[in-house]
Amino acid sequence: MVKTIDGDNMKRPLQIRGHHLLCIQGYQGYGYDRQFEINMSSVKEHLMADNHLIEVVTGLDVICASCPHAGDSGCNLDSNANETITLMDQNLLKALTIRPGTLIQAETIFALTNTKLQSKLDLTGICDQCRWQQKCLWFQSRDD
Ligand code: SF4
Repeated sequence: MVKTIDGDNMKRPLQIRGHHLLCIQGYQGYGYDRQFEINMSSVKEHLMADNHLIEVVTGLDVICASCPHAGDSGCNLDSNANETITLMDQNLLKALTIRPGTLIQAETIFALTNTKLQSKLDLTGICDQCRWQQKCLWFQSRDD
């Protein structure tokens, strides 16, 4: 299991799964439980504050690490979640034309997402079915 954010892993690239690059930008404090919210806030704060290096992945990441739905080898949100959420990650990486394992500064990858994904239509297969859309400031900021 990936570790939650702490002083140790802040010295290394932070693993972030594809679709979480969007969640981080739209996050305004809502999560699955308090532990999740504390970790998510911390990840967002550090990425934004010091333009931290990110390793883009398509599986459990530093945000999943404090999620009550994370299993030993994947997401257990529901019976199909691991496949559907991994596909969201893969579709996002495809849209950005980057590969899993890419190392990239936070500011650079956030700018890339915002340039390539300007409308809600661009999010088909990425987060158009996401349960958090009504709470996600990033999704709401995309053109209709
Ligand atoms: S619901 Fe699944 S993909 Fe989302 S943070 Fe939790 S474990 Fe990760």
